Amino acid sequence: MFWSKIFLPTLKDSPQDAEVISHKLMLRSGMIRRVTSGIYTWLPLGLRVLRKVENIVREEMNASGAQEVLMPMVQPRELWEETQRWEKMGPELLRIQDRHGRDFCLGPTHEEVITDLIRNNIKSYKELPLNLYQIQTKFRDEVRPRYGVMRGREFLMKDSYSFNLDEESLAESYLLIKNTYKKIINRLGLKFKIVKADSGAIGGDTSEEFHILAENGEDTIAVSDSSDFAINTELLLKDGEDLESFQGKPSPDGEGVIEIKKGIEIGHIFQLGRVYTDAMNVNVLDQKGKARNLFMGCYGIGVSRLVAAAIEQNNDDKGIIWPDAIAPYEVNIVAIGFDKDEEIAKAAMDLYNQLSSMGYEVMLDDRKDGYGTKMKDAELIGIPMNVIIGKQYLQNNEIELKHRDGQSSTGKVEDILTIFEHYKSS
Ligand code: ATP
Ligand code: MG
Repeated sequence: MFWSKIFLPTLKDSPQDAEVISHKLMLRSGMIRRVTSGIYTWLPLGLRVLRKVENIVREEMNASGAQEVLMPMVQPRELWEETQRWEKMGPELLRIQDRHGRDFCLGPTHEEVITDLIRNNIKSYKELPLNLYQIQTKFRDEVRPRYGVMRGREFLMKDSYSFNLDEESLAESYLLIKNTYKKIINRLGLKFKIVKADSGAIGGDTSEEFHILAENGEDTIAVSDSSDFAINTELLLKDGEDLESFQGKPSPDGEGVIEIKKGIEIGHIFQLGRVYTDAMNVNVLDQKGKARNLFMGCYGIGVSRLVAAAIEQNNDDKGIIWPDAIAPYEVNIVAIGFDKDEEIAKAAMDLYNQLSSMGYEVMLDDRKDGYGTKMKDAELIGIPMNVIIGKQYLQNNEIELKHRDGQSSTGKVEDILTIFEHYKSS
């Protein structure tokens, strides 16, 4: 992609209304634009990142044996009456009417729709366990939408639901998804903690959250400094524990002491038990031909929130530092004098074609600007590798490979290409 062609409206200064770093950087790097409170348009650069996150989530969900479906955003009131959530959800549920005056809501989550699907289509224990997922737009009329796509009103979620004959089978599905989430976040290149959590309005007993540790996290979590122990302090407060006093105490698992950290909740998994299947009367015939209500689990990942969380964890004063797996492009060719010097233009184009044919996703900065402006923009949008073709090339045929994290090497085009070949094969 050529810089002169891509729709990439970068901003020099931080917009006034952006409080946290990821929100500032997503606006400045031309990834998103606000339409209205908590509702955003994704521009080409941002959408590439969102799709990469989405694809990693999809690949790992498929690998776990889950099957993809796509449910509607608009859902009828009657289903929500069955679980009494039409009332319980309060003003977060956006209610709308059709031309006949019938009530609907915009789906904030899909337990009702999927439970209805299973109740009408699964008859026997032989068809279980079943794990279905979707990657779909949710709407929640949040009290305080803020931090850009981190807490939007409209956002992209991967939600999945397992249906199981008994508790043991539910525990197995839960563990499978938990391990799948670990794989997903590792592939994204992010540091995370699995945290014991409050199951809130969704209901059920066992639940854990996946948190990306970052200073701007909205959640406060208590973690052991030397084991995997971590708990959302919401849960401690509920149990009457004072927080403050939890700090510096020995960890309840006997390893290390407690530290208080900030986290961004990017995933949440629940063993719901029979909360929904009892309310909506979902049963199958078991081995003995007896009707049994199913056990259910639900598992969510905030796909759009993950993009913001990745930036919170990976940035410096110049801009974003994308983990390789989700960078919008892998290489950026900074051609200084592309418009004036044929030799530069030819070298840049050759390299662009070569790297593209090696399978790299490449940008070429063909704009009229000088080195300063081009490097500032490159650092802002955070492409992992920048190749500079300029004065040095004209003088002694050398180009520079500058990594976003600081390393750099200089050499002839062949030398730099060898480095790229090495990266592809490793
Ligand atoms: P929170 O506590 O942050 O409000 P939640 O517990 O209500 O989130 P869940 O119902 O567990 O959210 O939804 C699953 C995932 O969807 C969350 O872990 C989070 O990553 C994402 N998510 C939830 N609400 C939002 C939102 N308003 N904007 C973006 N992502 C969200
Ligand atoms: Mg949650």
